[in-house]
Amino acid sequence: MEIVVLKFGGTSVGSINRIKKVAKIINQYVKRKKKVIVVSSAMSGVTNEFINKSKKISNNFESSEYDVLVSAGEQISCALISGRLNHLGIKSRSWLSWQIPIVTEGNYKKSRIINIHRNRILNYLKSGGVPIVTGFQGINLENRITTLERGGSDSSAIMIAKYFKAKKCIIYTDVEGVYTSDPHLIRKAKKIDKISYEEMLEMSSLGAKVMQPVSIQDARLNRIDIDVKSSFINKKGTLITKKKNIITYKTITGVSFTKNDTKITLLGVVDKPGVAASIFEPLSKNSVNVDMVVQNISSDGKETDLTFTIKNEDILKTEKLLKKNSKIKYKNILIKKNLSKVSIIGVGMITTPGVTYRMFKALSKKKINIQVISTSEIKISVLINKNLVKKAINALHKEFNLEK
Ligand code: ADP
Ligand code: ASP
Ligand code: MG
Repeated sequence: MEIVVLKFGGTSVGSINRIKKVAKIINQYVKRKKKVIVVSSAMSGVTNEFINKSKKISNNFESSEYDVLVSAGEQISCALISGRLNHLGIKSRSWLSWQIPIVTEGNYKKSRIINIHRNRILNYLKSGGVPIVTGFQGINLENRITTLERGGSDSSAIMIAKYFKAKKCIIYTDVEGVYTSDPHLIRKAKKIDKISYEEMLEMSSLGAKVMQPVSIQDARLNRIDIDVKSSFINKKGTLITKKKNIITYKTITGVSFTKNDTKITLLGVVDKPGVAASIFEPLSKNSVNVDMVVQNISSDGKETDLTFTIKNEDILKTEKLLKKNSKIKYKNILIKKNLSKVSIIGVGMITTPGVTYRMFKALSKKKINIQVISTSEIKISVLINKNLVKKAINALHKEFNLEK
């Protein structure tokens, strides 16, 4: 049985008219005698609305109930898609994660799929039906509803493609594919024909919302090719695949950015073994995500300055934790918010010398000050002022010929 997985994102199912359009797309596959499994997100804005409601109920909303609440949007969109397919004379029904079941493990809000039972869906496909499966949600071994982190419908689609050995996994979204940078911000961003899992993973982890990072990890582990394309117009999209399938590389494949980063600097930290661990342990225990970390070596070997970045929303929590931490001693704490991390990504940089220099030079020509730097084999990230992001990305597009 040749199975195709089609995933539709929030904007693609964002209105009644769009859902009608989605049903038409599904119908095109049905007409070609494909066995289709559809995965849907909630209508755009719905998940955020639920999150806001939970915050109004309590600033300490129980995470198991949070998952029940925020996964509810997917149930609505799946029923609407099935309803429309039925209207067109196509046999279809919605499948909530627990009805399959899609089994997850790990904490609420960020569970991971560990098993998908195949029988019921396979029988339904054999009977000629089109299953419409709720993305983003699962059920754990305690029989409770879970969710897969924001953007988690991508993970649902990839894992369904894995368990059903699908020939194709197509992610339908509101842009024509993966671009060199967010096409909604950067007018000159170009669509990428093919991108490796490694690059896509960096791009999405570093801010490109178009694919959820976890889903790319899953796709890479299971060697699942992903087509990202628009649900609005029928055009070739982007193929996310293994490196071997990509013949030519530019030096840089794309530029990602984050918003709302904050830089914390601890000045005059007593320099002794274990000090970094005592700073970061309470932060990690309290779910503060620490990103870039830089430690300066002190000239006298007694004191050092330590800089790290967090998200703006964690400033108060972090400040409190640092101030009440009796295990560390420092002279002063500096907090600078509203920064952004801009990253260039590309496997091509492994074999091309001078990329770092070119990046810094391009930014300095635009008088953009770099506050923190971090690098890995296929990416270079810099922390800059948030209001300079667009300028920086445009300069980097020019420097690395991404506009062409
Ligand atoms: P969906 O609801 O379909 O899952 P998302 O909103 O999660 O869609 O992701 C699509 C959005 O990702 C686009 O609208 C675009 O603004 C944003 N985006 C950010 N970086 C990129 C990029 N490099 N290429 C394409 N889209 C990007
Ligand atoms: N609806 C969920 C979210 O907004 C999942 C998804 O869109 O993939 O995060
Ligand atoms: Mg998404």
